[in-house]
Amino acid sequence: MDPSPLLRFAARGEVKLALRASSRLRNHGLIGTTVFVRHIPLFSRDYCSNATSNGLLGSASKRRARGPVMAAKKASEGVKKEVGKYKHTIDLPKTSFGMRANSNIREPELQKLWDDNDVFSRVIDSNNGETFILHDGPPYANGSLHMGHALNKILKDIINRFKLLLNYKIYYVPGWDCHGLPIELKVLQSMDQDARRELTPIKLRKKASKFAKDTVKLQMKSFKRLGVWADWRNSYLTLDPEYEASQIEVFGQMIMRGHIYRGRKPVHWSPSSRTALAEAELEYPEGHISRSIYVVFKLISTSPSSDDLLKEFLPDLSLAIWTTTPWTIPANAAVALNAELQYAVTEVSSSPQETSAIPGGREIKMGNVLKDIQGKKFVIVASELVPTLESKWGVKLAIKKKFPGSALENCRYIHPVYMKECPVVIGGDYITTESGTGLVHTAPGHGQEDYATGLKYGLPIFSPVDDSGKFTKEAGPFSGLDVLGDGNTAVVKYLDEKSSILIEEPYKHKYPYDWRTKKPTIFRATEQWFASVEGFRPAVMDAINQVKWIPSQAENRISSMTSSRSDWCISRQRTWGVPIPVFYHVKTKEPLITEETINHVKGIISKKGADAWWYMSVDELLPEAYSAKSSEYQKGTDTMDVWFDSGSSWASVLGNKDGLHFPADLYLEGTDQHRGWFQSSLLTSIATKGVAPYSRVITHGFVLDEKGLKMSKSLGNVVDPDMVIEGKNSKDSPGYGADVLRLWVSSVDYTSDVLIGSQVLRQISDMYRKLRGTLRYLLSNLHDWKSEYNVPYNELPMIDKFALFQLENTINSIKDGYESYQFYKIFQIIQRFTIVDLSNFYFDVAKDRLYVGGSESYIRRSCQTVLASHLLSIVRVIAPILPHLAEDAWQHLPFQYFLNDGSVAEFVFESRWPNENKVWLMMPVEDIDLWGKILGLRTEVNKVLENARTGKLIGSSLEAKIYLHISDAATSSKLGELHASSNDADALHRIFITSQVEILPSIDSKEVESIPYTGQYVHGESTIWIGLSRADGLKCERCWNYSHKVGSFTDHPTLCSRCFEVINFQSNSAMASIG
Ligand SMILES: [Zn+2]
Repeated sequence: MDPSPLLRFAARGEVKLALRASSRLRNHGLIGTTVFVRHIPLFSRDYCSNATSNGLLGSASKRRARGPVMAAKKASEGVKKEVGKYKHTIDLPKTSFGMRANSNIREPELQKLWDDNDVFSRVIDSNNGETFILHDGPPYANGSLHMGHALNKILKDIINRFKLLLNYKIYYVPGWDCHGLPIELKVLQSMDQDARRELTPIKLRKKASKFAKDTVKLQMKSFKRLGVWADWRNSYLTLDPEYEASQIEVFGQMIMRGHIYRGRKPVHWSPSSRTALAEAELEYPEGHISRSIYVVFKLISTSPSSDDLLKEFLPDLSLAIWTTTPWTIPANAAVALNAELQYAVTEVSSSPQETSAIPGGREIKMGNVLKDIQGKKFVIVASELVPTLESKWGVKLAIKKKFPGSALENCRYIHPVYMKECPVVIGGDYITTESGTGLVHTAPGHGQEDYATGLKYGLPIFSPVDDSGKFTKEAGPFSGLDVLGDGNTAVVKYLDEKSSILIEEPYKHKYPYDWRTKKPTIFRATEQWFASVEGFRPAVMDAINQVKWIPSQAENRISSMTSSRSDWCISRQRTWGVPIPVFYHVKTKEPLITEETINHVKGIISKKGADAWWYMSVDELLPEAYSAKSSEYQKGTDTMDVWFDSGSSWASVLGNKDGLHFPADLYLEGTDQHRGWFQSSLLTSIATKGVAPYSRVITHGFVLDEKGLKMSKSLGNVVDPDMVIEGKNSKDSPGYGADVLRLWVSSVDYTSDVLIGSQVLRQISDMYRKLRGTLRYLLSNLHDWKSEYNVPYNELPMIDKFALFQLENTINSIKDGYESYQFYKIFQIIQRFTIVDLSNFYFDVAKDRLYVGGSESYIRRSCQTVLASHLLSIVRVIAPILPHLAEDAWQHLPFQYFLNDGSVAEFVFESRWPNENKVWLMMPVEDIDLWGKILGLRTEVNKVLENARTGKLIGSSLEAKIYLHISDAATSSKLGELHASSNDADALHRIFITSQVEILPSIDSKEVESIPYTGQYVHGESTIWIGLSRADGLKCERCWNYSHKVGSFTDHPTLCSRCFEVINFQSNSAMASIG
């Protein structure tokens, strides 16, 4: 058989209006201009099949079978006859708004439209509500954007754009973090050795600055492509002179308030980067293994309090300690005990077991102490650990005496390397019996807790290790060796030769690595500048309490991180940063830093930038009052921790730029910023202003691949935002555009880690198409709409009132979603609304009224009234998430939208959030219940229709007549009333899209038995019986409904009564206009 003429013509792109007109109801798609026709299958089929995949399928979607079935049937009947006569009386949808987003071209066009018309500032200027400040956390100007950046900036943009619609004035100044080691390293790596030798700090800074600024440009371009609205022309860079000056001011204020001090203190030190590191610059990779050793220190004297206890065991008594960093033994200054724990003197003797039977056997290496147990040997360990240590060391430990740790304070032992006397001291709660021996080797130059204990006892802070991680001369036999390599080995060997090692075993634990070089760090005491968090911690904790944290668990996170953190080491031994503006006396090394010197340096930097610190002389950098003495001073060479840079942004940006206010309304960054930017900003702000720099903080998780794995180049699972937008090739990796990426951002619960991959993107892109299809349906059916056609609410059919009730509820829920920052809820609401409420129901039913109800009829205009409300609402409420789609639709509006002041909203963001329509929500509860029942009933009717179609009784649903019998009288009378209502739209056969519906008083008669297809709908107490037969009468040529009336009008023998009236009315008004 000849294929459908429509399909054949469409394939050749030669579809004529006549053909399209005849196919209007078969396709149930949108038919209009020629461009349209090619996409009919896309709309109708995709719309439905996707609904299935989303589990939101209403049975209406099954009716898609009607299209092809009817097309084939029609082809066999001969098309020509049916096509001609009434085509001009049918209102086909019309719009130039394309079904395809064509986002690679269209999105940049729309962005240009916004730029050319300055829409962002235009909207801000015309808004007259409160100011809303979302302060941008500066991404690092190093490399291209990853998905985490995209997630972050899109979330911010959704919030800002929502606020814009709500009449807020927003000032959003984007920023970049430009200093620091990674950029310095990139510059160094890009140079050969000769060039590197020639490199002065100023040359390096110039190159680093250029690198950062170039990267900023690249990143800015990508952010703009995401559709992010920001004050791009006035963005802030941490390398701007004004920024640097503000940072110096924050530093100065902290100095003046006594919150900054210089001290020798163990800090995380990266030998590979030759600099101190902050907590935020460390990572703890899996699988680090240290060489751990159990060592004995020989006790040589007891204290008065332990004399009686221990004397009998001397001189064969030792303290047993355990360490995972043997290289710190030379720096040992004490052994610390917990006063509360029980300790015991134990006698060591060979275990009856063979050595090979030691648990964990091969990994453990026995030291010389245990290889040769001769005579009596006593060691002190925590009593509780005796069984564990017996099994670990493979010996018997007979307990001779027990006592509390406090009893041992001030006993003395011999240092195993330097043979000097050292004390036993009481440490803190950090000494436990979870591992080791309960006695802690204490080296105040190499550990935080050791340092604190050392301060208590006045122990020396000894740290014989240099910047590159090598032992200094002070380390004696180990001088010049690498503490993380041969130095560590040498210490172990030395100790064993001196018979100090019990056993050695590999130990797997979390160990801090430098996050940039991926190499292990050490703890090392150096002269550094510190911010004394201790000094203002209570105020910080109090401020955390005042801030609103989203999600709420974040408050615990930042509280525990802040309450447990030590003082903040803010100096770095690098060149690419803001200098610590301090001078040192050449001879005494005493630092010189006063309010006067700071202000002077600040003044210079605000004009010339921080480079001035390097190229200007001490004389120039010091205030005049010091000119006589300037030769006695030299400049400090330390720069500030980059977290101090970004942590001062509230001062540099919120405090300095017009329109902004302090504190910001919102900070929004990834969860890693609890120990990074959120914290550094909080510390500097509390230390100088006494309040938090933000009133609200939102955190988001990380972006992982579809399987929940971290993205990495080596795994090949990196999803690149530019690639998602632009695409690589149309098949495997199509360009989805920024809006699909933005829709993805809205779909995820960002408070935990989120997943993305090609599968996810395909689903999101389907959803995008559905939304676009929804807007296209609305635009195309409003092509002849004017606001004066508006039908008053009270005069609307009930189906329309119900549609508006659903719309208003939906808008309110969407607003709640935005206001609670739960965008995934909005995504779900929109998905349900467009598929279930609109596509499967209202839009489906409305086609009859819109296409054949008569252009200017009440029935069509009332429907358009509802559609116009939907269009104007949907396009605005999705605009924060999908600004390009919303603007694209707005630019295709077939009518103008007037603002309250009478001006036209030319751009969607000028239109503001839809006004509340409380009256739409006032539908009586019983009516809402009734419509709930009707929708349920409709689903069942659709199933019966589907059965009849499968059984070949009918093709189109219009070929069917539905019988209903309703068990309960109340429902029966309500449905009957609705069915008989004076407006055509509420009649049940219109709602079911069948030609007839008859409500039967009973189902006992013989006649009912002959009804071929039946079904049932049960709702609470009431049961509705459904029957289906072929429709009565003949098919109307114009609307395809079946009716007894077809054939009864002499002038129009092929029309039903509805169509007859429509035609009569139209020809009369045509005559009138001619006359
Ligand atoms: Zn008709």
